[in-house]
Amino acid sequence: MLLQEEREEIVEYGKRMSGDRLAAGTSGNISIYNAEKGWMAISPSGIGYFDTKPEDVVVMDLNGDIIEGWRKPSSEWALHTAMYKAKPGCRAVVHTHSMYCTVFATLRQPLRPAHYVIADAGVDTVPCAPYCTYGTRKLAEAAVKAIGDSNAVLLANHGMLACGGSLAGAYSLACGMEFCAEVEYRARTIGNPVYLSAEEMAEVLESFKSYGQPKK
Ligand code: 13P
Ligand code: ZN
Repeated sequence: MLLQEEREEIVEYGKRMSGDRLAAGTSGNISIYNAEKGWMAISPSGIGYFDTKPEDVVVMDLNGDIIEGWRKPSSEWALHTAMYKAKPGCRAVVHTHSMYCTVFATLRQPLRPAHYVIADAGVDTVPCAPYCTYGTRKLAEAAVKAIGDSNAVLLANHGMLACGGSLAGAYSLACGMEFCAEVEYRARTIGNPVYLSAEEMAEVLESFKSYGQPKK
């Protein structure tokens, strides 16, 4: 089976995504890009995450041609390939319909720096792409245009997409964005959040470059 490790990781993270309530039912999708081979492994369309097996994951190239797999790939395969084409360091994409991100996406409002963790996305404000029908190339184009230098983007009346250098990174960013959206939402229900300034966020963005354990 081609890209066996990637397929297994996608199955594992799909279960996490469901268990962490980031994706209800069969909503959302996950992919990993193997740059050496030029292939992407992507979750199948419309199969529950606890029912998905490694052999259900589809291997495609960035033109959307199926290399291996008997299932229909995620309807958002073009959204995923568009990210790999546009973002040189991107090796994994997590798309969710997580509740609080989707609330902001429905208001068509970006996520503002209510909490410093928004810097996880590499920017101080996470943009919202205009509405386009799910599963279309138009949506892929709109998302790429809106995401710019950010590693996350909201999709109007739809959800959120996070990119990472690994699936662990993209998944952690998806969780971080949902946390930020929930904080901003909750703060707005009882008052007016004080947003961090550009200077305050610039300091966090700089500090995040060396956050955590030093790289070996
Ligand atoms: P798939 O099941 O085809 O991946 O679609 C889910 C989704 O979130 C569409 O935007
Ligand atoms: Zn979706």
